[in-house]
Amino acid sequence: MKTTTPGMWNRLLGQEAAVGVLRASLASDRVGHAYLFVGPRGVGRAPAALALAASVNCLDDGCGTCAICAKVLRRSHADVHHISAEGGQIVVDQVRALREEASRAPFEGRMKVFIIDEAERLNPAAGNALLKVLEEPPSSALFILMTDAPDDMLPTVVSRCRRIDFVPLGFTEIVEILTQHHGVAEDRAAWAASAGGNLAAALRLSKDPAAEERRERHLSYPERLARAGLSSAISLAGEVRVEADEAVDRLKVRQKDEIKEHAEAYGEARGTAAARKRLEVRHKREARRTEQQTYEIVLTDLAAWYRGALLARHGDGAPDAQIEAALGDCALSAPTTSFVDALERIEATRVALSRNAQAGLALEALFMHLGSIG
Ligand SMILES: [Zn+2]
Repeated sequence: MKTTTPGMWNRLLGQEAAVGVLRASLASDRVGHAYLFVGPRGVGRAPAALALAASVNCLDDGCGTCAICAKVLRRSHADVHHISAEGGQIVVDQVRALREEASRAPFEGRMKVFIIDEAERLNPAAGNALLKVLEEPPSSALFILMTDAPDDMLPTVVSRCRRIDFVPLGFTEIVEILTQHHGVAEDRAAWAASAGGNLAAALRLSKDPAAEERRERHLSYPERLARAGLSSAISLAGEVRVEADEAVDRLKVRQKDEIKEHAEAYGEARGTAAARKRLEVRHKREARRTEQQTYEIVLTDLAAWYRGALLARHGDGAPDAQIEAALGDCALSAPTTSFVDALERIEATRVALSRNAQAGLALEALFMHLGSIG
């Protein structure tokens, strides 16, 4: 059964209903002009948008291996356009540029595809401009809007689109997808699912060979704090900052490739400056998200240690082998209440960092607190 599904589609797990509808439209050659992909981030909306964009252009049903599919996947296909918010909004100039682009014939493919991320960020003027395009869509254009908040969009725009719902994937489903379809070991899948928080991030983590090493380091923090106390708090906060910087550096290497591909696809011709600018804005946002994700993972690992310590105290055993190895003696010496307190502090720090608190200070305060207990 799986072998009959083209490559671009069989990567989409846990979204059978959405995939079924889209594949049926493709099979009957009745792909609409506008779709609204509704669902939380990281569950497969973006891969589904790429699969649809590839399928209407690929000569082999979205095979996933040909040059066309490869370009769509790398986001370097000249007829597949990605639109996202600039400074928090999608503005009318972006929609005007889209309209102009949509009116031209495809450059190298059969269909021009416009993938609009966070469509709820279309401001009213942009929404109205898009509505005009959707009312009389050019015959060779396909619009895919993605959102997790359709209620924040202009109802007239929503009603012009065919809505496809993507279901949220829970912890258990993410673990199941990782273990059964990606060959990830159970322990590691459970960690990636909780540290990543969504399927896309969990998948990335479980395939990152250095992730396990980093986890081991995070799990050693409580012991280092117990041994060296407050003097290690500042250096641990520094280590975490370095780790975040390194993650952003790795991202920048990938972004550089994308900039190069972009230049190859569009050249430096007139009118490409706006596209370059948009790419730059998206890259900055990705960098922020990557930094955030690093903190998220560190805090998840720390919380796992303290939760493991609590479990060990109650004689229930550690949740997994890696945590058990990291617990050591200090998990036995501190009072239970201090573990509960530590978990609360970690959660508070996570919330503060997600609200853009200054990372260095927030981490130092957390480590100082964790170093003072026990
Ligand atoms: Zn293909």
